[in-house]
Amino acid sequence: MRIASVIDISLVDVPKIPVTVIFTAGCNMDCPFCQNAEIIPLKSGTPMKIPEIVERVQGNMSDGYCITGGEPTIHRDLPDLLKALRDTGTSHINLNTQGTVPSVLKRCLPYLDSVWFDLKTVPERYAEVTRARSDPWPHVLKSMKLLLDSSVAFWPRTTYVGRWMHPEEIQRIAEFLADLGFEGGYLVQNYIRSSGTRELETEDFEEPSSDEIEQIRERLPPTISLKIEWR
Ligand code: SF4
Repeated sequence: MRIASVIDISLVDVPKIPVTVIFTAGCNMDCPFCQNAEIIPLKSGTPMKIPEIVERVQGNMSDGYCITGGEPTIHRDLPDLLKALRDTGTSHINLNTQGTVPSVLKRCLPYLDSVWFDLKTVPERYAEVTRARSDPWPHVLKSMKLLLDSSVAFWPRTTYVGRWMHPEEIQRIAEFLADLGFEGGYLVQNYIRSSGTRELETEDFEEPSSDEIEQIRERLPPTISLKIEWR
């Protein structure tokens, strides 16, 4: 598996649990607003064997692990890493995924406690927004169903990009989640420019105001609790 970096301890990636964050390298999408664009290339990062990764992350003052990327599920040996981390006796393992590789996600489920699931957009805009080689939506849908049928905590989340997304799209995603039978929190966070974003790719975007999202709060299904997190 290729690893981009490790943060020994983070207080912000999993609510109320200090975690060690492992960034896998490589992604099968190319979202123009990506905050970690330098690790999109499949050859980015450093190849590491599972025991090496476990040795690198053990001994931190954290209570769990968060595996993010890039897209962790493009790595076929991700379930082996999760199992090895579980065998250390950790109390919580969280995965961040956009859900495009349900076959790997399914093999990960026995070792996971929670998943931040990045919903990029409404179904018909998936190919446009993610610039994936083929339309990822059928795979994303399959992954959501897998998670909703499991005991793993499903935490849907969308990054809202100013001038490129519309509040009605957030409303439609929330309605879609409710139609799938999901009940609970749906996190919408703001797009921000950072050292990880690409200047040329993002020149047409803007950091949005949370008012754009607040205006749809009253229109959401009652089973969906909108969480607006402006950073
Ligand atoms: S899925 Fe995530 S890591 Fe991959 S390109 Fe999009 S924002 Fe970046």
